[in-house]
Amino acid sequence: MTALQTGWPYFSYRDSELHIEDVPVAQVAEATGTPVYVYSRAALEERFDSLAQAFAGVRHLVCYSVKANSNLAVLRTFARRGGGFDIVSAGELYRVERAGGDLTKVVYSGVGKSPEEVRAALRAGILLFNVESLGELEMLDQVAAREGRVASIALRINPDVDPQTHPYIATGLKKSKFGVPMAQAVDAYDRARHFRHLRVIGLDCHIGSQLVDLAPFCDALQRIRDLWDRLIRDGYELKLLDIGGGLGIRYRDETPPSFTEYAATVIRSLQPFSETIVLEPGRSLVGNAGVLLTRVRYLKDTGEKTFVIVDAAMNDLLRPSLYGSYQEILLVRATNHHEKTTVDVVGPVCESGDFIARDRELPRVRPGDLLAVMSAGAYGFAMASNYNTRPRAAEVLVNGSAFAVVRTRETYQDLVRGETIPSWLD
Ligand SMILES: *Cc1c(COP(=O)(O)O)cnc(C)c1O
Repeated sequence: MTALQTGWPYFSYRDSELHIEDVPVAQVAEATGTPVYVYSRAALEERFDSLAQAFAGVRHLVCYSVKANSNLAVLRTFARRGGGFDIVSAGELYRVERAGGDLTKVVYSGVGKSPEEVRAALRAGILLFNVESLGELEMLDQVAAREGRVASIALRINPDVDPQTHPYIATGLKKSKFGVPMAQAVDAYDRARHFRHLRVIGLDCHIGSQLVDLAPFCDALQRIRDLWDRLIRDGYELKLLDIGGGLGIRYRDETPPSFTEYAATVIRSLQPFSETIVLEPGRSLVGNAGVLLTRVRYLKDTGEKTFVIVDAAMNDLLRPSLYGSYQEILLVRATNHHEKTTVDVVGPVCESGDFIARDRELPRVRPGDLLAVMSAGAYGFAMASNYNTRPRAAEVLVNGSAFAVVRTRETYQDLVRGETIPSWLD
């Protein structure tokens, strides 16, 4: 048997059949139907461990950003490695709890936290609230007072750097809604220290996502480091420096920095530094650990274009439609003939924006063929919807030569749950 690497660790061709670890992916599709998301446990663990390894020389805490992929089994995988979690809602807190995550290693970010969400997080005893506005400071102090607790906080500061990524995922520019502007940072800290039910213990920033260059990180870290020093001089006892997430991955031909390069840059930018560095990686831990399997339903040649119509759609994987982003597509059964055609790979949803790939060179495919949409582990299922009343896909976790369904495909009953027809429509 010959194993052929795909460029995605733990994904290989053996006898022309795509495998994830030791499982032929066709076998998963057979068992669950399509579309289905499939993740590799080994790939998830390798990513987590190599990030932790890269930062082993300094005090740090890896808080996986739950929103990238919030499946309970994925959360548990990281919890078992000692990971903490970065959440942006009480719903994500609930997931971390259900996955058996350590709530004392949870950091809570987000511009629009509600009093109820904050109360739940206080009761859970989370590590840190990353506060994004003065209004939130006041609200948090009030809720903490009512609960008879003290909330540990950092302010999320917007360092105003251009991360040179897609505008929808750039969060560290002056014009973005996130964080407190750098120019207001010192004043905001001075306000924060006077609240009796808040304890100021950190400084936080997160500048964007899918960053494939270290320069924006360097810029941001320099500014944040200057602010940190200023705050220390002003008498703040800061313990946690949360540098956010945002490290990019290879979808096509990007060459993102390795965790080692990233860690070296962070450590060099901050040194000397002896407090705890909090990391909030999402995409870089899960993105290349998962695929979306989809089956070809029809081919349609309009004279203008050739469409490959598959059973996955924008409701399953939104990134191509939302960001115009590129996802590699591999045939699950590799073919010998190398003749390629240019096609649009589209789904059944009734929108012209519903596509997985546009003007893509693919080997000839036929109805019934299985395709693997690569790099779908982050912001894939997590962004799925029920648009067009389509049940959300199943999710599977591969573990060596075994696999488990970690989320069953939704049923039509699931889709109407909670809906009622009022009696006056009888
Ligand atoms: C989304 C998000 C992250 C994770 O970003 P990635 O690009 O997936 O690493 C981290 N921190 C915050 C505050 C976020 O909103």
